[in-house]
Amino acid sequence: MKILLTGVTGQLGWELQRTLLTIGEVIPVGRSVSDPSLQMDLAQLDSIRRTIREVKPDLIINPAAYTAVDKAESEPELAMAINGIAPGAIAQEAKQLGAAVIHYSTDYVFDGKKNTAYTEQDQTNPQNIYGKTKLAGEQAIASVGVPHLILRTSWVYSLRSKNFLLTMLRLAQEREEIRVVDDQIGAPTWSRTIAEATAQILSQAPENISDFLASRGGLYHLTASGQTSWYGFAKAIFELDEKKSDRKLQRLIAITSQEYPTPASRPAYSLLDSQKLSNTFGLLLPDWERSLELVMQK
Ligand code: NDP
Repeated sequence: MKILLTGVTGQLGWELQRTLLTIGEVIPVGRSVSDPSLQMDLAQLDSIRRTIREVKPDLIINPAAYTAVDKAESEPELAMAINGIAPGAIAQEAKQLGAAVIHYSTDYVFDGKKNTAYTEQDQTNPQNIYGKTKLAGEQAIASVGVPHLILRTSWVYSLRSKNFLLTMLRLAQEREEIRVVDDQIGAPTWSRTIAEATAQILSQAPENISDFLASRGGLYHLTASGQTSWYGFAKAIFELDEKKSDRKLQRLIAITSQEYPTPASRPAYSLLDSQKLSNTFGLLLPDWERSLELVMQK
């Protein structure tokens, strides 16, 4: 299987590149790759179309996205081009080739007003530009009618790129006090968990991935199990941090979202129910704390 993979400089794309080595021939594309035939800027439709036609993959996996949630509020057009429009173009090109698409989306498609985990059936109602653009991307893929899998995940972290875990570890070296919101609830999810679940789903596919996703694909939630707040996540990070002695941090303080205004508003509750994924593909999703322990051992 020839897999065209975007976003390999990001958290999830990097893990996918590693994990998919046993699944197929992975062809990484991106906006700063040196080989011109593998350059793909998701903000440029002609570049998307040209590269996919050149590579002729059996499967396109698209973890690339405009992920700067606050910045998206001041760059809505660019965020929409990358998150909302590009996935539709990818899906159209895949359909022309008879290929399939795997794409990732977010818990921020919901408004956070529920107090039990969101299922795939729940009404979406994004509260910020990022969420709106990601929802547009989901809809664009679904409307093309290509065999696809859309995996919604949440609070992604790893030891690379930009994320909450790395920000906390850096701030702990710089500041005596860190204030973190305690009234937004979700599930921190290690990028490796998402990549490995993707690979396990693919390993269940018979020879033709398009046939497999035409019958078993669609929209699924995929996060670690358990739940916490950003404050709870930060507390767990510092409890596991082995470099405790050289850090400046003295006080971790729980605050409300009102005390930490950001350009983009975020859902108060965005837990996703991953039961459909577990039932369909027989996957067990690890508890977020167990995964964090493993990451922190590194
Ligand atoms: P990262 O921010 O770590 O990586 C984003 C990737 O997208 C980078 O490789 C970046 O490449 C690429 N990219 C951005 N703009 C373009 C462009 N115009 N053309 C080509 N490539 C581009 O993202 P994550 O790995 O964290 O996210 C993976 C997926 O999970 C995304 O779909 C995201 O929306 C979703 N998600 C993420 C969450 C999170 O907390 N991070 C939460 C929920 C869902 P470059 O090096 O060129 O910038």
